[in-house]
Amino acid sequence: RIVFLNGSFLPLEDAKVPFMDRGFLFGDGIYEGIGVLNGRLVDNEAHLERLERSLREVRIANPYSRAEWTRLEEELVRRNGMVEGFLYFQVTRGVSERDFFFPEDAQPTVAMFTQAKSIVHAPVAETGIAVVTVPDLRWERRDIKAISLLAQVLAKQTAKEAGAQEAWMVEDGFVTEGGSSSAFIITKAGAVVVRPLSHAILPGITRKSLLELSKEEGIVLEERRFTVEEAYDAAEAFLTSASNFILPVVTIDGRPVADGKPGPLTQKLRQLYLKMAGAPAMA
Ligand code: PLP
Repeated sequence: RIVFLNGSFLPLEDAKVPFMDRGFLFGDGIYEGIGVLNGRLVDNEAHLERLERSLREVRIANPYSRAEWTRLEEELVRRNGMVEGFLYFQVTRGVSERDFFFPEDAQPTVAMFTQAKSIVHAPVAETGIAVVTVPDLRWERRDIKAISLLAQVLAKQTAKEAGAQEAWMVEDGFVTEGGSSSAFIITKAGAVVVRPLSHAILPGITRKSLLELSKEEGIVLEERRFTVEEAYDAAEAFLTSASNFILPVVTIDGRPVADGKPGPLTQKLRQLYLKMAGAPAMA
């Protein structure tokens, strides 16, 4: 397996980050995760735009132009012969003696790897997944894709121990988002409901594409907050992320959503998304 680290492509075993890297010591960095389908990056421009924004917000200089990022990503996909899966990269503030203040001379650390994974034919796409709700314990700038993910690690482990595959985080009674996904419900009247963008959630790239597709299809959209009770009572529920595209949610806190099966509009949206992402037509 070949990874990218600070300007070089090299075997994973040889890719070493210094002990004093601020990503390791402070979680001082940001990241991106992009789906790969048929060897092509899905929605890469939007991911690079979000990367640029995250870097600006945390004041780390962007080490590459958009064209350079794209070339590095594509070369890594090619070198790994990756057809379907996930490409991850992170940029940290670099290596320096441990001190909270920004180092004057450090170069950002750039690390990138790929993970092969079936997204289109994932079994969970057929069965749907279980989610459990947990308090949202994160900081107040969740719109920045920061590598410090302790609250999500704890939330998702709680979900796993409850037999679920994702945690839906809750603040003031309203669902914010999933531990690593955007949260959606569909009302009995057939409207797709998703929380509006703000500092409270990550601006999901899959969320954005899905909203565009839904608009084109004339599906009713409601960008507003929804409560846990409304989710329990929804006609359908689903999540979106770059590593899963769209997955039906069939139980919330152990309660079946409607009949506890993936909903028809969710399945239609998944097919539309797959088509947009360039998946071969499904049987
Ligand atoms: N929300 C959070 C907290 C995430 O970590 C992620 C993805 O990792 C998402 C939403 C989904 O965003 P995207 O569709 O860009 O993968």
